[in-house]
Amino acid sequence: MHNYKTDYHVHPNYSIDASAATIKDFCHKALALKLREICFCTHIELDPERKAKDNFVRLNGVKHSVYKLNWLDSYFREITQAQTEFKESGLKIKAGVEIGYCPGEENYIEKIVNNYPFDFVMGAIHCLDHLSISSKKESPYYFKSRSAATVREEYFAVLMEAVKTNLFDCIAHIDLYRRYGVQFLGVNAYTLHRGAIEPVFKEMEKREMGIEINTSSRRRGLKEFHPTKEILDLAIKSGIKVFTVGSDAHSLDELGEGLDEALSLLHDKNASNYVFDRRKPVPCSTAGKKLTRTS
Ligand SMILES: [Zn+2]
Ligand SMILES: [Zn+2]
Repeated sequence: MHNYKTDYHVHPNYSIDASAATIKDFCHKALALKLREICFCTHIELDPERKAKDNFVRLNGVKHSVYKLNWLDSYFREITQAQTEFKESGLKIKAGVEIGYCPGEENYIEKIVNNYPFDFVMGAIHCLDHLSISSKKESPYYFKSRSAATVREEYFAVLMEAVKTNLFDCIAHIDLYRRYGVQFLGVNAYTLHRGAIEPVFKEMEKREMGIEINTSSRRRGLKEFHPTKEILDLAIKSGIKVFTVGSDAHSLDELGEGLDEALSLLHDKNASNYVFDRRKPVPCSTAGKKLTRTS
């Protein structure tokens, strides 16, 4: 149905919370699913107060400090090898990263993204007040003592800060607080963005930043994707033009999940799916044509 299918949010075995599936394993699966592009987005978490918990990647099957940057040499080497191996197949393979934004760590983020040839740098708000809101186990410690008004204030303040750093090409799962917050906040989880997200979108639009349609919400029993249709409409109304789609796959079986529907959603709203090339957004309509002309 969609002639240029992409998955721009994939966690290979470099992420400590991902399965053992390698970059090449995901590429084989991507081909089987007829994806045209796959973008790997390994987690980088830098909150010094969570150092013992989060600030790791997996290198050669072993937990490795995210600060020892040699893992990135290996990551890029593997991606380059896969690009060569899959060249004939037509599958494009991109090097991305998903950085959990932590205020105060801007210099370190800058060092990482400026020293490696990333195609796509995604920013995410995974932690508030040094507690993970993306973890089923840990998020109750954050939500149980906070009202919807407080969650709104804290989440959107950090999000605004992340946007203003100008370090990110795109924001991942922009209403992530819904994932586990809905159990504590009830229907408020669906409305607390109102009035708070519009100024963020204004700043994103100025910077031509993108928004991801993240389908992982379905695996957690939520009806809508991240973001909800209401938020997506607000983004479009604010002039945001760059959208990506991602399954947030942490294992092979999750690759490509929900993406047909996410692409249909964008299509229905007259919005375009984008890919990234060395951090430059390219609408898929153009990317698709370029591929046909040269092949
Ligand atoms: Zn995430
Ligand atoms: Zn992710």
